[in-house]
Amino acid sequence: MARYSELSVDELSALRESLQAEYEEIKSCGLKLDMSRGKPSAAQLDLSMDLLNCLTEEDIKSVSPDVRNYGLLEGLPGMRKLFADMLGLKPEEIFVGGNSSLNLMYDTLAKGMLFGYYNSEKPWSQCGKIKFLCPVPGYDRHFGVTETLGIEMLTVPMTSTGPDMDIVEELVNNDASIKGIWCVPMYSNPDGITYSDETVRRFANLKPAAKDFRIFWDNAYCVHHVSDQHDELLNLMDECRKAGTEDSVFMFASTSKVTFSGAGVAAFGCSENNMKHLVKLISMQTIGFDKVNQLRHLKYFKDLDGVKAHMEKHCALMKPKFETVLRHLDEEIAPLGIAEWKRPNGGYFISLNVLSGCAKQVVSLCKEAGVVLTPAGATFPYGVDPLDRNIRIAPSFPTAEELEMATKVLCLSVKLASAEQLLA
Ligand code: PLP
Repeated sequence: MARYSELSVDELSALRESLQAEYEEIKSCGLKLDMSRGKPSAAQLDLSMDLLNCLTEEDIKSVSPDVRNYGLLEGLPGMRKLFADMLGLKPEEIFVGGNSSLNLMYDTLAKGMLFGYYNSEKPWSQCGKIKFLCPVPGYDRHFGVTETLGIEMLTVPMTSTGPDMDIVEELVNNDASIKGIWCVPMYSNPDGITYSDETVRRFANLKPAAKDFRIFWDNAYCVHHVSDQHDELLNLMDECRKAGTEDSVFMFASTSKVTFSGAGVAAFGCSENNMKHLVKLISMQTIGFDKVNQLRHLKYFKDLDGVKAHMEKHCALMKPKFETVLRHLDEEIAPLGIAEWKRPNGGYFISLNVLSGCAKQVVSLCKEAGVVLTPAGATFPYGVDPLDRNIRIAPSFPTAEELEMATKVLCLSVKLASAEQLLA
């Protein structure tokens, strides 16, 4: 197999013809496969079925105050402790909410717009044009939240150690209209990168021009390993305490990809100053979240070690799926020099960078052949990947056989789109 860049025009034309024939054959199979979203498979959801039986009437009635009633706005103390251990915070720095961390992120950012935070001079919506930094490629729903709330997004490229911190520092420390940044610091979506210690320290030591600047530290994948090798993330809050910047951070996590994606438990963590301010506002929104579900999760896991043991079962299901995708890419694409990708130790995605100008065509070829991928561009603000090269692969949902087939279609589509592009 020769690298495509070394082929003559005639060789490339012949190749395109044979790839096209292969593609037509696969297309005629009438496949219906979905690699579009990072959803757990049914087998992963089945791992947590005991969650539904683990809580007895006696358990429920033995807890005081009564979890069936109103109260304990910040969450069950045991659950606050569990999330505190997960995020490396103190229990009193944790607020346990409903089932979705994305909802907590939206709500927290909306509060910034409506009211400002405890050290804001005024609500962000009254500050004229405000901006958020968005490391790219990134999580499409972060960008959706930001756009919906009318905040302008500025992209910052990801590097192998996290966002390019030279750019982050230059922008944040000099432009007071930049009010925040989105971060997925561990097994980032979609690159699977864990921020280096230096990156975390540089975040803690930012000197933002906006005094009420906030880092939205979405630690969605902090216990989600897909390899025997586990990445480690330095504790941002510890570093912030040393630098006196602990008020600049909001942390988020959930059990969406630990138990049930639609019925887990989510939490945010922040400094005492931020907590006091946010709790006062939240107390006008709700008298309390679902503490029965919190107790159920607590009984099921007991502590962070319980969560970690459970995540090993997820790893056993996810690891072979990541290996399937990586094997196909290694064997079929690597020798051709037409795409690049990373080998994440955790998270939910493999981030594939094809030749510039090819991502949309690859996604469209896959779709025509019955394989749905995340739309090209989704990993960038406003859905626009300026180089049209990033594709997010989500291997979790399909079965092993479906994934084999879907990845074959993907590789074929990458080859066909690349040959077409080089001939154009
Ligand atoms: N944050 C990241 C980085 C994600 O990838 C996802 C889901 O894919 C979420 C948050 C959603 O979390 P939740 O289900 O807790 O709302």
